[in-house]
Amino acid sequence: MEHLSKDILKLYMNHELDVEEQERTESHLYDCDDCLNVYLALIESQTLKHSVSDDFTDQTVSKIYSQTKSHQKSKKPYSSKNRKLITHYFLAAGLTIVLMLTGIFQTVLDVTNDYQVETSTSITDQLMQKTNTLLDYMKGDHKQ
Ligand SMILES: [Zn+2]
Repeated sequence: MEHLSKDILKLYMNHELDVEEQERTESHLYDCDDCLNVYLALIESQTLKHSVSDDFTDQTVSKIYSQTKSHQKSKKPYSSKNRKLITHYFLAAGLTIVLMLTGIFQTVLDVTNDYQVETSTSITDQLMQKTNTLLDYMKGDHKQ
């Protein structure tokens, strides 16, 4: 398997890849710690200025964690890799606006509950889809 170039990672971070390429990048990141580290470094250098607060992320992740824990019996513990990825999905999706809608918590928890049966890729797909739906909804709302 070839490693991902920084250019690809940047495009991925900005959601500028087509769907197919995005999925390929995503699954590579799940399998390859080297590329993940490069990617996380990219994120950290870019998102600190306009990110959601660390506090929020911590709270969300701990909510997800406790929810996940109560639904899992002998699953592997929640890894820091997943935590970082979740952080990224909040940051990259520009969720600052969406986070004002408390519904996102339920969405995240619902999606997380599916974690045991779904692949990680489909979780992110669902999350991104819900985000887009919310954003579209809000845009439509403002036009009235
Ligand atoms: Zn790689």
